[in-house]
Amino acid sequence: MKKAAILGERRAGLVDAQEPRPVEDWALVKVHAAPMCAEYKQFVAGQPTAFLGHEAAGELVAVAQPGRVQVSDRVVVMPSYPCGWCALCVSGDYIHCEHPYDFVAFTGSPEGSATMAQYLLKPSWLLPRIPDDVSYERASLACCALGPSFNALDAMGVSAHDTVLVTGAGPVGLGAVVNARFRGARVVVVESAPWRVERARQMGAAAVLDPRDSDLVPQIKALTGGLGADAALDTSGVVAAQRLCLNATRRKGQVALVGECGNPLEIRASPDFIRTGLTLRGCWHYNLADFPKIMAVIQRSPLIDLLISHVLPMSRIQEAFELCAAQQTAKVILNPWE
Ligand SMILES: [Zn+2]
Ligand SMILES: [Zn+2]
Repeated sequence: MKKAAILGERRAGLVDAQEPRPVEDWALVKVHAAPMCAEYKQFVAGQPTAFLGHEAAGELVAVAQPGRVQVSDRVVVMPSYPCGWCALCVSGDYIHCEHPYDFVAFTGSPEGSATMAQYLLKPSWLLPRIPDDVSYERASLACCALGPSFNALDAMGVSAHDTVLVTGAGPVGLGAVVNARFRGARVVVVESAPWRVERARQMGAAAVLDPRDSDLVPQIKALTGGLGADAALDTSGVVAAQRLCLNATRRKGQVALVGECGNPLEIRASPDFIRTGLTLRGCWHYNLADFPKIMAVIQRSPLIDLLISHVLPMSRIQEAFELCAAQQTAKVILNPWE
């Protein structure tokens, strides 16, 4: 089979690999849509790898043993390889599982663990079915495009009463705008990349503010009757944006972090939390039981196609990475068969 690889600094291409074979209750999925995520950072940094991606939708083509899925099922591929048995997995919050499979030890090969490939392997319980009227491309938005922000907005109980601050309008931030608008909330976005600013406006953001402004907190308070946002969501993974979320959210409001960040966010118990009554959450992927709700967003949001900026043949992986690195995209989806 063909799969995408980073070959060097700002160099990517296709490589050949052994087609993976399913074992036990794992299924072989023929990938039809592989959304790109943060892999472009490795492309820019020149970190060679032939195992790329964690988002996909496709068609089930083989199972090792009969089970809950069938050949020809159209499925979304959920991320990671959780154990399936611990309390977190059983509750649907498998993304936080502390006992993931050792992929190579279990399957006998690393092949099948990447999504930017023609085939992959996945435990069958992590392959929810796609409704007949939803394309593979749209269904694949049920991974990082809509997943983390759905989880965060749901956990914060965001509704039409609320003004939501979204920092960062990359693919995950734009997904947050789609999810927030679906809930009827008013959305204030903070973003500087011109392409993303324009796309956030097209999606109906009430305001798009420039992170380089020195008076962002007063600007956000001016938009919210002097109070601050009801809820804030950082998708940028930038410490200054995380701090802005804490400072620009109203008393008793809620803040969620979904953008990953290795740098320290300094917090102060009293002024940040005790005096404000703020709630701070870390949110990752959504609970598996919420899959039908995510599908409802995909089926009914009038903004959904604005969340896909490019569908490209995987053979154009070099161009796809360059587009992502230039921050001129919403979600970029690869077709591994072209
Ligand atoms: Zn588990
Ligand atoms: Zn992702």
